[in-house]
Amino acid sequence: MPPKRRRLSETTDPKDGGGPKASSARPHDDIWYSDGSVVLATDTHLYRVHKSMLAKHSKVLKDLFEIPTAGVEADRWEDVPLVRMAGDSDEEVCVLLKALYGMNLKDVLRTMALSKATALLSISSKYDFNEIRRDVIAHLASLFPSTFEKYKASDYHTQTPCAESLFNLIVVAHRCEVQIILPVLYYLCATFPLVTTVHMLPTLPTDFMKNFLLGRDWLCGVSQRIVQYSSPAVRIMDRFRVCRVARCVDKFRDALSELLKEYTWHILFVFDFPENGILNGVDPELHGICGGCATHYRNMLDSIKEDAWNQLPFKFLGKKWEELK
Ligand SMILES: [Zn+2]
Repeated sequence: MPPKRRRLSETTDPKDGGGPKASSARPHDDIWYSDGSVVLATDTHLYRVHKSMLAKHSKVLKDLFEIPTAGVEADRWEDVPLVRMAGDSDEEVCVLLKALYGMNLKDVLRTMALSKATALLSISSKYDFNEIRRDVIAHLASLFPSTFEKYKASDYHTQTPCAESLFNLIVVAHRCEVQIILPVLYYLCATFPLVTTVHMLPTLPTDFMKNFLLGRDWLCGVSQRIVQYSSPAVRIMDRFRVCRVARCVDKFRDALSELLKEYTWHILFVFDFPENGILNGVDPELHGICGGCATHYRNMLDSIKEDAWNQLPFKFLGKKWEELK
């Protein structure tokens, strides 16, 4: 436990306004080691930790600690050197230090809020904490997979993700060069109703925003195509099997309107269509749908989904899956 009340020495007050104001920060309740050899300061907390621990895991900090400070009046917390974490949020520093000091990161990541995992990606990339960065990327890649099989097996997209966290992760993933998670991330962001999206768009840099809007527009077109191809009339016009059984044609029409009736005001996007599409929960035999028509419909849906998956990274990032790292 840190001391309840301590006073920073005069030199800890930033005169240049460049870093967090250490004087308003208080010692963190947990991350405070009495034998710590450095105090890290955010605008909220002070963390007394060990230089050797930081240097072991971060080449950036190791190099920083090795810069000679002779003749320079360094900031101190009483007799301990104090480093102001300029540009790092308190959440980022806190979660990074918890990851360093004993937390089983792989386990914790499974239940960690996305905003915290994003903070950890950001700060571990900035200071080159390679092992932590690798674990966080592996976790994010499981949430936002790069193969359609893994996407279908994952349940993250079936939950209700927070728009703010997802849009923020787009920005951080670009900055930290974790492109492999971006296609699914963009897809999930595209599926929010526009009323949500308009509030989030200003958080994206202009180029990302353009790609996002163009990609979303393409996804809307894909959804239209699925609906169009689900209609028996179009299936007849197209190269699909012609069905002349009135009951089958009627049932397809009913099933389509049944699925779409809850999507009057927003779009059902391609990967959110149930596996069997409009035939989900419909027994073809029982409902008078010919086996051939059902098979043709499922093949059509699978083919559009697969095609859309293959094009997803190109539509949002101008790259193929295999070009993402
Ligand atoms: Zn039929």
